[in-house]
Amino acid sequence: MLLQQIDRWATLCPQRIVHQSRDESLTYAELKTYSDALAHWILRHVVSNRQPQVPIIVYGHKEAAMLVLFLACIKSGHPYIPIDISVPPERLQQIVVRSGAAAILSPRDIPDLVVASGIVCQAQIHLPEWLSGAYPPQGSVLNEDEAELPELIGYDDVWYIIFTSGSTGEPKGVQITQRALATFLDWVNREYTPRPQQEVFLNQAPFSFDLSVMDVYMALTNGGTLWSVDQTHIANPRELFQSLAASDVSYWVSTPSFAEMCLLDRGFTAELMPQLSHFLFCGEVLPNAVAAGLLQRFAQADVINMYGPTECTVAVSGVNITPDMAASNLPLPVGQSIAACQIYICEPEGRTVLPSGVHGEIVIVGPNVSIGYLHQPELTERVFLQWQEGELSRQAYRTGDIGYWQDGLLYYQGRRDFQVKLHGYRIELGEIEAQLRQLPEVENAVVIPIVRRGKNAALEAYIALRSDPVMATAVSDMGNLLRQKLSQVLPAYMLPQRYTFISSIPLTANGKADRNALRFKAVAAMQ
Ligand code: AMP
Repeated sequence: MLLQQIDRWATLCPQRIVHQSRDESLTYAELKTYSDALAHWILRHVVSNRQPQVPIIVYGHKEAAMLVLFLACIKSGHPYIPIDISVPPERLQQIVVRSGAAAILSPRDIPDLVVASGIVCQAQIHLPEWLSGAYPPQGSVLNEDEAELPELIGYDDVWYIIFTSGSTGEPKGVQITQRALATFLDWVNREYTPRPQQEVFLNQAPFSFDLSVMDVYMALTNGGTLWSVDQTHIANPRELFQSLAASDVSYWVSTPSFAEMCLLDRGFTAELMPQLSHFLFCGEVLPNAVAAGLLQRFAQADVINMYGPTECTVAVSGVNITPDMAASNLPLPVGQSIAACQIYICEPEGRTVLPSGVHGEIVIVGPNVSIGYLHQPELTERVFLQWQEGELSRQAYRTGDIGYWQDGLLYYQGRRDFQVKLHGYRIELGEIEAQLRQLPEVENAVVIPIVRRGKNAALEAYIALRSDPVMATAVSDMGNLLRQKLSQVLPAYMLPQRYTFISSIPLTANGKADRNALRFKAVAAMQ
C-alpha cells in the first residue's frame, strides 16, 4: 500500500528533506508526524469517519503544508482535491459545490466567497506552530498521544480528484484510485529507475495539474526530495536560475513549454545542474528542437517523452528520445505503452481496433484508468467504457486524441474535438465560450487558438455582441471589460488574449460555428 511505502522513510531516513521551497524545508520525520496529527484532527474536528470517502479540498500553492495536508486527508480516509491559488474564487466555489467536499483546508487565506458558503474552512495552517500552539482552537494536536491509524483508503478507493477544464462550461473532477496511482508508479519507478534516498525531483507544475503527481509520488515513494519552484520563480528568470543552480535536481519533471522557456537562456546547461540525469516530459507535444537542444546541452541526461491524459493517471506511454529522432523532421513518438495497460487505436467513437499505421482515436484500457468524473454519470458514460476481452471486462477511456502505431511506437496527431493545450495547460475552448455566452453583453462567442511557429501561442475570442455593432473606439474597452469579467471565473491561463468583434458568428452548411473561417480570418489578420 502506498502509505506504507511513503511512511517508511520517516524511519529509514528521518532527517532527509522531502520538500524544499525557497529556504523552507520539511523532513520525512516531520511529514509523518504532522500528517498523522492532522489526520487525527480531521477525524475529530472536521469530518467524522461516518462520512468516509467524502473529498476534502486542499487549497494553496507550493507550500510544504500542501503535501502534509494531502497525506493527512488520505490517512483520515478522504480523497483530496488539490486546488492552486491561480483558480479564481468563483471557480473554486463551483468546485466546492460540484464536489460536495466536506471541508477546505489551506496554509493560506481562503477566499471570502467560499467561507460565506458555509463549508467547513480551516485557513492559515502553518506547520508546526499551528499543530502545537494555541491554535487550532481545540488546543495542541501535535503532542497528543495518538494511536496509529488503520489504513482508511483501500486499494480501489479514490486517492485524489483533479479538476480539469470541462467543455460544458464547468470543470470536471477526475477520480483516481490508489490502484490507478500504484499502477502508474510501478511502471515509472521501474522504467526510469530513481535511486532510493538519492534523487531530487523538480516540482514545476502546480499541484492541481496531474503532471505534478509524477514528481510528488516519485519523490515520496523513493525517499526523494521535491525541489519546488513557485509562480514568482517562474515569472522571474534570474530567481529561477539561482534556484536551479542551488537545487541538485536529478529528475526534471515539467511541460516541454517550461523547458523551452529555460532553453532561451544560454546558462541553461549541464554546468547549471550537473546532477541532472533525466528530463521527464508529459502533457503536450515535445517539439524536436526542444529535445535536440536539451540533448546537446545536457549530454549525460536522458530526454523522455511521455503521453497520457489525467483520466489515465499522468502517463500511459514513454520513450527515450535519441539524438537521431530529435534531429529528424518527423514528429517525435510518445512511446510504448506501460505493461499493465493496453493502448488501442480505434475508429472514432467505435470499438473496432485499427491496424498499425492507421490513424484513429486513442483508447486506453487498464487499471490506471479513472473510475469516472465525480458526480457526473452522464459525462462519465460518454467517454469511459467497459472493454471486453474474452471473459475479462476492463475500464477504458476514449481520449479524444488521434494517433497511430508505427514500428511498435505510439504517435500523437492531435485532437478530434476542441480541447487544446496552451503552455502545457489543458483547456476546453467550449468552457471559455460557455462562460462568455453567460455574460449579458455577449450574444455568441467562438474561441480559437492563435498558432505561431506550429504551436498554440495564445487564444483569440470572436464575439458577436448583443447590441448593435460597437463603435470602433469602444472595442478595446469592451475587450478589457470581457477579459476582466472572465477573469472572475477562469484561471489566467484560460483567458483569451485577443478579442475580435464581429456582427455574427459564421456558420458551416450544417449550422455549426465555422471555426475554419475564423482561423483563416485570424491568419489573414496576422499577415
Ligand atoms: P492532461 O489531462 O492535462 O494531462 O492533458 C492530456 C492531453 O494532453 C492528452 O489527451 C493529449 O491531448 C495531450 N498530451 C499529453 N501528453 C502528450 C505528448 N507527449 N504529446 C502530445 N500531446 C500530449
